[in-house]
Amino acid sequence: MAAEANACPVLTLKPGREKSLLRRHPWIFSGAIGAVAGDPGPGESVEVRSSRGDFLAWAAYSPRSQIRGRVWSFDRSEAPGPKLFRRRLQAALDLRAALLAPDAGDAMRLVHGESDGLPGLIVDRYAGVLVVQFLAAGSERWRDALTALLCELTGCDRIHERSDAEVRELEGLPRRSGALRGEALSAPVEITEHGLRFLVDASGGQKTGFFLDQRANRQRIRALCADREVLDCFCYSGGFSLAALAGGARAVVAVDSSPAALALARRNIGANGIDPGRAHWIAADVFRFLREAHARGLGYDAIVLDPPKFAPTQSHAQAASRAYKDINLFAFRLLRPGGLLATFSCSGGISGELLHKIVAGAAADAGVSATIVERFQAAADHPLLLEFPEGEYLKGLLLRRN
Ligand code: SAH
Repeated sequence: MAAEANACPVLTLKPGREKSLLRRHPWIFSGAIGAVAGDPGPGESVEVRSSRGDFLAWAAYSPRSQIRGRVWSFDRSEAPGPKLFRRRLQAALDLRAALLAPDAGDAMRLVHGESDGLPGLIVDRYAGVLVVQFLAAGSERWRDALTALLCELTGCDRIHERSDAEVRELEGLPRRSGALRGEALSAPVEITEHGLRFLVDASGGQKTGFFLDQRANRQRIRALCADREVLDCFCYSGGFSLAALAGGARAVVAVDSSPAALALARRNIGANGIDPGRAHWIAADVFRFLREAHARGLGYDAIVLDPPKFAPTQSHAQAASRAYKDINLFAFRLLRPGGLLATFSCSGGISGELLHKIVAGAAADAGVSATIVERFQAAADHPLLLEFPEGEYLKGLLLRRN
């Protein structure tokens, strides 16, 4: 090929470091880079080449992050830009349309970052509102184009930005939130999930306001909790609690440290016409609550443990393992024979295998035997790209105490 006037900066890898890209893994770590030519700015598109000069990918450059490049495309003819983004967004929308049951409701994750070929972009739809996170330098740089395409392809004219996640700091990006399109949010947005109504605090709640990844798992709990006395730990706005109550649970005790989340959970009970007397909302630290409940000799027929991310990365895995072990140990102690434990980890640093080990250790220490009845993962609108195992963050086990 004739020497091109190369407008695009070029990132050349060290010898032998092209293997992961050849397997279509979308991250380029700083240690793999041999040379950077053309002085790319944050989020600027770069062409990635092997040490021999072969084209490998188009990527977004992140000068401040250990993940120095995030791949937009492995196809030389697909340079990053609105045309590519339109195709990726449409593919993401089509995937949801094909996979999500119509009765799943009007809230879903439309774009799940790398797993939808759009690194650093998260888009959740809550009824008529889109909530967007630009979490990497590349998606940040294309913020206007991506926002315009989202409006056009979804038909939503109300977009709220929640680029206030901690990971922005690793990219050297300031946290930012507020209205991107349309009127600012002044009240929670009402959504429906499998016929249950939830108020979502999209502007102030955790993440983008709701834990959509647990939708299918909440449905399983709903199907399994009839006549049971349920303990929902880390209940947030009452997702699992409402599912259990709608499924005929006798009573639910729900614990969270956030009074704002509990206030929303109370409103959610009311919005569904469920007798508020069946739910007991407790503002407390779960670690303490479990100990006290054990000391008081309490017991439950079903327990949900859905803690926050104790181990964002593998380096936190050891301390996080102790925390997971602790709550699972006390959950087993509180679980009546025949009782169900749904235990989750949404930590990228904790593998499914490690969670299994931790839970087995907890049961052993509690002196109980249990059977794994099911394994949980994130719902279908949180796809997992085969070549990107890092995308697997949510895992869970459903256990029955023997
Ligand atoms: N199960 C929920 C999501 C849980 S998110 C759902 O289906 O929607 C994790 C929750 O844990 C958050 O609401 C957070 O406020 C709460 N949390 C974090 N640390 C806690 C602690 N030590 N004790 C109690 N709650 C805690």
